Parts: sequence; structure tokens; C-alpha cells
Amino acid sequence: MNGLSKVFKFIAKPVPHCLVCRNAVASAGYPFCENCTVMYSKLICLPCGECGKQIAKCGCIEVPPCIRFYRLFEYEGDAAQCIIYNLKKRASAVDYTFIARRLWERICDTSGNISFDCVCYVPRNKKGTAKYGFDHARLLADALAKLFGVPCKSLLMHTGAKGEQKRLSRHYRGFAVKTRFDINAKALQEGKLPYKRVLLADDIVTTGNTMGECARILKACGVRQVFGVAVGHTPDKNKGRRLSDQNGRSF
Ligand SMILES: [Zn+2]
Ligand SMILES: [Zn+2]
Repeated sequence: MNGLSKVFKFIAKPVPHCLVCRNAVASAGYPFCENCTVMYSKLICLPCGECGKQIAKCGCIEVPPCIRFYRLFEYEGDAAQCIIYNLKKRASAVDYTFIARRLWERICDTSGNISFDCVCYVPRNKKGTAKYGFDHARLLADALAKLFGVPCKSLLMHTGAKGEQKRLSRHYRGFAVKTRFDINAKALQEGKLPYKRVLLADDIVTTGNTMGECARILKACGVRQVFGVAVGHTPDKNKGRRLSDQNGRSF
């Protein structure tokens, strides 16, 4: 049993609760009550908030230097907000397994039989990890790694800084960016990460700055291709409107 399974064992609640409204749910292994099943079905059918295409077919959201960014739904409306909120605050194996499976399906639908050398994650800050007792992005990455049959690795660490700041990592000195994140020195082999293609997971992407920052660190440490994945993405309404004006359609 790895460390993470132990976390699940001790934190996971015996009675499953709905991932949206937190009422008890009847069927084991499925994280929604009857009402919220309908809300969830609607949520995952909502189009990209920027280009208006189905999320599975949208390639408009770019999180450089990630080669591609995948997400399950747009972070809009009550159901999306409750799901992200609950994922951050409780570590239920049912929830993470379900969400990771949907993301895994999304990635396979979009990119076929893509494989990764490992899955890693945008680490939670120390305060949040201490408060809730777990790193939600790590739980997501771990569940995704199992589906891809690859290891989940802690390649990054949170420096404890807030926002764009102070510390410049010695591992990517060439880079004039102040950062909240740093490479996990324990993951380096002869000064480099021994992975060529990595999937980087987080719960939500808004501007893409955080995921981009983490992807840059990975690349500066030798990873050739970083793919990003998040449960939710906050659409930029202004961008959506501009596109809609250009295309003469509304959504
Ligand atoms: Zn519910
Ligand atoms: Zn789009």
C-alpha cells in the first residue's frame, strides 16, 4: 500500500456523500445523488465558454508551455463550484476515482492512446495541506496515474510564497521568474528529471499562470513535453465575447 492509499484509508468516509450537495448517496462508487446527477450531466455538456465548441473538441484554451490542456468542465454555475469546493475539502476515494476516470476518458478521447512517463501535480500550499490534511491535486494525480498505469510523482513543491514572488530556484537560475513553486530536489537524478513526457494535474485553471509556472519549472529541469489537466477551467468571458463578435454568433 503506498502512502496515498493510506491517506484514503484513513480519510475516506464510509458513507458516500454527493459530490455536489453532500447528501448521502445510494449507490456505492458513484458520487452523485439523483438530483445532482442531472446537474452533473448538464454541466459536462456545457460548451467551452470561450470558443463555444464542445469541451472535448475545443483546443482553444492554451496553457503554455503545456503542449495541450485538458479539462472536464467549465467552472461556472453551482454544480461546478460545489464539485471543486468539495474536492478541495474532503478526500473521498470515490470522488477522486470518479473524476479522474472522466478526465482519463477525456484525454483518451482527445489524444488517443497517449502515454506519459509519470503524472505529477501543482502542489497545494502548506497551509491548505495542513488544514485539510491532504493535497487535493496530489489525490487527483494519483488517481490519474493509476488509470494510465504510470507512477504519480511529487516533482514540484510549494515554496510557501504567495503570488509571484521572492525566491528564485537554484535549479533554474537562467529563468528570471520569481515563483511560488520549486522543483522537488529529491526527484532529480544527476540534476535532471528522468521523465520526458509528463501529465501535470490541478483542480482548476483560471489564467493558466500557476500551471504554466509549474510546467516551465518541469521543462527547465529536463522534461520535454508537459501536458496539463484540470477538473475545471474558468472561461474568460471577454475572450468569449470577442470570438462571438468575430464569428457573428452568440453562445
Ligand atoms: Zn446531490
Ligand atoms: Zn474552446
